[in-house]
Amino acid sequence: MRIGIDLGGSKIEGIALDTAGTVLVRRRVPTPRGDYRATLDAVVMLVHAIESETGRSATVGVGMPGALSRVSGRVKNANSTCLNGQTLKDDLEAALSREVRLANDANCFALSEAIDGAGRGAKVVFGVILGTGVGGGIVIDRRVLEGPNAIAGEWGHNPLPLPDDEDLPLRPCYCGRAGCIETYLCGPALERERLVNEDEALARYEARLARALAVVINVLDPDVIVLGGGVSNRDRLYDRVPRLWGAHVFSDQVATRLVKHAHGDSSGVRGAAWLWGGPPSR
Ligand SMILES: [Zn+2]
Repeated sequence: MRIGIDLGGSKIEGIALDTAGTVLVRRRVPTPRGDYRATLDAVVMLVHAIESETGRSATVGVGMPGALSRVSGRVKNANSTCLNGQTLKDDLEAALSREVRLANDANCFALSEAIDGAGRGAKVVFGVILGTGVGGGIVIDRRVLEGPNAIAGEWGHNPLPLPDDEDLPLRPCYCGRAGCIETYLCGPALERERLVNEDEALARYEARLARALAVVINVLDPDVIVLGGGVSNRDRLYDRVPRLWGAHVFSDQVATRLVKHAHGDSSGVRGAAWLWGGPPSR
């Protein structure tokens, strides 16, 4: 049995999957705000509750905001800031008496969709979360690509390509840079612009997304790009963005598919569970 935990800013969700991907148990609890010890305890109690309900022990994978620093082993880049600087992996392993695998939540999303979601069967999958923030993850042959800096796929804090008059002046980002893709493509940015003119805002959004994804296609050349997060539920994106990105891709044709997530809000927990390996590919 595989347990996946999605450690979010407002809730912690836990799921138990059998080796075929069937959900055995699903539970969620509110995240103790700003309290690292209480957050750690909540994750440990969730694992114990799932194991006692099923009567089985399991591998444990955790999806979280941010990443583990390759230098210190501590959490970095998390917007749930009480996690930053903490030895989350060590603390979980000590409390649960087993190895625990942790990964960035966007990486878990990409893994879930690559294993048995909208990217199933594809060799290279780029998963994008267009939500409160903008994250990305790369999965190759059903495994997350992490990289020596633990930032592979971190697309949201690159500059928006080819900014035009409507994109200027470059928007300041919480990360300290300006003009980050996240500041243009996160859900709240779209909502603000929709208040002025819905159609124009969506057209502008699609043009920006097309330029930003064209860079990914030029660098990674993925088979599939899967969108998740609140903005991904706008169905027109899947038709319009691929019609726009060709102008910016260095190729006479673009075979990359742009698709909507298959597991929705469950991708985080499912991908966390699959950090220990997914079901056999079909
Ligand atoms: Zn940024």
